[in-house]
Amino acid sequence: MITTRFAPSPTGCLHLGHAYAARVAHDLARQNGGRFLVRFEDIDHTRVRPEFYEGILEDLRWLGLTWDDEPWRQLDRLDHYQMALDRLKMLGVIYPCYCTRKEIEIELANLAHAPHGPEGPLYPGTCRSLTNPPRDREPAWRLNLDMAAGLVGELTFKDQRHGRIGVDPGLLGDVILARKDIGTSYHLAVVVDDAAQQITHVTRGEDLLGSTHIHRVLQTLLDLPEPAYFHHQLILDESGQRLAKRHDALSIETLRKRGEDVWNLLP
Ligand code: GLU
Ligand code: ZN
Repeated sequence: MITTRFAPSPTGCLHLGHAYAARVAHDLARQNGGRFLVRFEDIDHTRVRPEFYEGILEDLRWLGLTWDDEPWRQLDRLDHYQMALDRLKMLGVIYPCYCTRKEIEIELANLAHAPHGPEGPLYPGTCRSLTNPPRDREPAWRLNLDMAAGLVGELTFKDQRHGRIGVDPGLLGDVILARKDIGTSYHLAVVVDDAAQQITHVTRGEDLLGSTHIHRVLQTLLDLPEPAYFHHQLILDESGQRLAKRHDALSIETLRKRGEDVWNLLP
């Protein structure tokens, strides 16, 4: 059976872009007699506000989208992410990183050829072979991509719009899998939860296409099933900017108060 999910962060209200993303996942499930789940990606705990959990569900209800089961919260699942991290530790594919943001900036500025990815500069690998870790700081944990790529071999994923895509494990560099403050990261949590919720089709905006390369590597290292992907178009404002939480005028709440037909405003 097809299972999809909508995974908003309760750091703001839903806007038109979220409505589109939710509908894509919802319709794919419903048109195939499948299940549609909601998952709150709330590990960015300093930006989360409690009222947004219910606010988001209320927006979804008003949009006429129904979901199955109680929505999950990632903050309830930290022990599961820890188990996955421990497994990666045992495989020897992660390493502690003690760098501050500032130190990484300085390191990058000093490099003649700073590594670059689609989302900007990549971590330069400073802590990959640390022999004397500082004792006064908690580390973050990063994926050692060379090591990981060697273990997983050639990988692909299937995207409904783009077809089969070969995985480029190095695309985002040695990404953080566990932040020092929360012990996990978007990449680790999403991979663990998509498997735990038996998501068969991951639908999300095409801005996350790059992340899927890393997710396939993690799924393989952790022995998790490979879902199908659909990276849908992003909804842009009149000036071609992608919608963000600052676009109050296009929040679902505002549109609801104005009595607008949201689906009419979307492709
Ligand atoms: N929380 C992400 C977003 O709102 C979704 C991530 C995902 O679907 O994998 O864009
Ligand atoms: Zn470091």
